[in-house]
Amino acid sequence: MALINCIECGKEISDKAKSCPHCGMPLKKKGRGFAIASLVLGIIGCVYSLPVLLMAFKKFESTGVAFGRAMYFMIFGVLSVIFGVNSHLRGCHLKKKTAGIVLGTINIVVLSISIIISIL
Ligand SMILES: [Zn+2]
Repeated sequence: MALINCIECGKEISDKAKSCPHCGMPLKKKGRGFAIASLVLGIIGCVYSLPVLLMAFKKFESTGVAFGRAMYFMIFGVLSVIFGVNSHLRGCHLKKKTAGIVLGTINIVVLSISIIISIL
């Protein structure tokens, strides 16, 4: 069980509570799946983006390989951000969604750098 802040009154409440005991604001659970998906995709995206960056730096094999992989793995980062934002819009409080958005953004930035390096 973790404590979260009520989006309405800001007081600390249990994340297991169905509604805020202070102001009665119902806790929406709808965005949970998206938050978890965002985190998982963000982690996968980051794990795969680093080798691609190294590949682009070392000019390993042909530059087209790093470019292709960067474009491919960026899907994880983009989906991670989309799911994280979707979860946020559905009123999800989970920190997983923020972590997912951050990791997804890192993935996109790292892969964008990889693409630029592989083109240069
Ligand atoms: Zn409240």
